[in-house]
Amino acid sequence: MSTTGKTSLFQKLPSTDELLRHPQIQRLIESEGHVAVAESVRIVLSRLREEISDDRIDEKAVDLALGGFPAAVERQLRQMLSYSLRQVVNATGVILHTNLGRAPLAAYALDHVRNVGGAYSNLEFALAQGRRGQRDVHVDRLFQKLLANDNNNENIGTAAPGRPVEHNSGISHAISTIVISTIVVNNNAAAVLLALNSLAEGGEVVVSRGELVEIGGSFRIPEVMSKSNAILREVGTTNRTRIADYEKAINERTRLLLRVHRSNFEITGFTEQPGLDELVALARRRNVPVMEDLGSGALFDLRWVGIHGEPGVLDSLRAGVDIVTYSGDKLLGGPQAGLISGRADLVARMRSSSLFRALRVDKLTYAALEATLLSYVKGDYDTVPVLRMLRLPKEEIARRAEKIVIAVQSTARKSGSLGIELADGESVIGGGAAPSAVLPTRLIALTHAKLSADELNDQLRAATPPVIARVDEGRVLLDLRTVFPEQDANLGSQLASLA
Ligand SMILES: *Cc1c(COP(=O)(O)O)cnc(C)c1O
Repeated sequence: MSTTGKTSLFQKLPSTDELLRHPQIQRLIESEGHVAVAESVRIVLSRLREEISDDRIDEKAVDLALGGFPAAVERQLRQMLSYSLRQVVNATGVILHTNLGRAPLAAYALDHVRNVGGAYSNLEFALAQGRRGQRDVHVDRLFQKLLANDNNNENIGTAAPGRPVEHNSGISHAISTIVISTIVVNNNAAAVLLALNSLAEGGEVVVSRGELVEIGGSFRIPEVMSKSNAILREVGTTNRTRIADYEKAINERTRLLLRVHRSNFEITGFTEQPGLDELVALARRRNVPVMEDLGSGALFDLRWVGIHGEPGVLDSLRAGVDIVTYSGDKLLGGPQAGLISGRADLVARMRSSSLFRALRVDKLTYAALEATLLSYVKGDYDTVPVLRMLRLPKEEIARRAEKIVIAVQSTARKSGSLGIELADGESVIGGGAAPSAVLPTRLIALTHAKLSADELNDQLRAATPPVIARVDEGRVLLDLRTVFPEQDANLGSQLASLA
């Protein structure tokens, strides 16, 4: 377009002040305030200017845009004032989905967060003495119960109908005689950093080459090690490390033997790794502590949900591991946090580090964690969403899925573009717990006569609230294991609207 043509288009645009006097915009100002509305007007206006100078709009389109200006301002305003962070429906069947916020919190935990967070609290105040207290006491007392008292684990085991409680025989070190304490930091990455720095700064940490893992989001063991100022002493090979490899690496500079849980992959085939009991025995003989980065760190026996060969926090402490680190928002089912449990003297060294001060968590995290742990202490496992989802039987998921399918079919018969049926499938735990373990489930499988599976999936993501599903072999798959039952009805109407 010629420069004069553009100039005449620019001249058509009213000033911000003129636009602000428009009756519809005046009404918006009354309800949402001058500042936000004026900002929206400026944004919409500058977008229009840009379109003119880029020749993307002619005179007719400018007139059209000006006619719809108040509506455009309102849309801009709504978008600006709405939350960016919001609820989604997790229909992926991945219980601990890092991109979807990992563990949803228990209702009790949210109540406690609201109660403590909306007022002053005794976060660091010892009420009985009337002086400064420590923030860890609120959860340490519960961890003491859960980690030192063998009866509690029995409770968790027997609460699972039809699953006998098995015990790791042979490696029991009667941890009830050792004082276990626990501190809380921002996440498990912070826990590993703090533990390595406090226990091994300037010294060597022995790790198997098969455990130099990357967890995702740039958590790599060698990098955390160098940030902690500890020296990585790699032993063995990717697939095989023997106890003798550890033994040869120990010298006067060795501060720690480290084991890292292979959270998101498995090594199969020609492999070897010493048992935890062998590692502990060697560490005792050479007088160095053993630390284990468990990652997920279940506080219950995973055999209870049919998962074998995954150590829980108690298994590791019983085996004699001195320090374990794990996440608060993985299998524990609580808020994002990093937990460090183990020998009280070692934990005390971490607590007195200036790094601990930098990595500590706030009252909201303590409140959510305390409430989640109380559910464990009381044996109320079904109040913790992650535990409930883990234990959900396939039959119950199938019953809910069937109800949705029937509801959708009865409303969608007319046009018939949506294909909806049930299929067997598998849910996964995610979050770096039991990478190969799956839970049997029943899926809702969708196809559409006019939309590809990816397009169908896009539409589900655009729903309110957005529905996050999986695409597999030309079908969209929905797994209700991770959908809250109270979300079923809305999910059903979203599906019906796709028909
Ligand atoms: C998940 C995981 C981490 C990181 O934990 P965050 O709580 O996400 O910081 C570290 N190590 C292992 C083995 C893990 O599985």
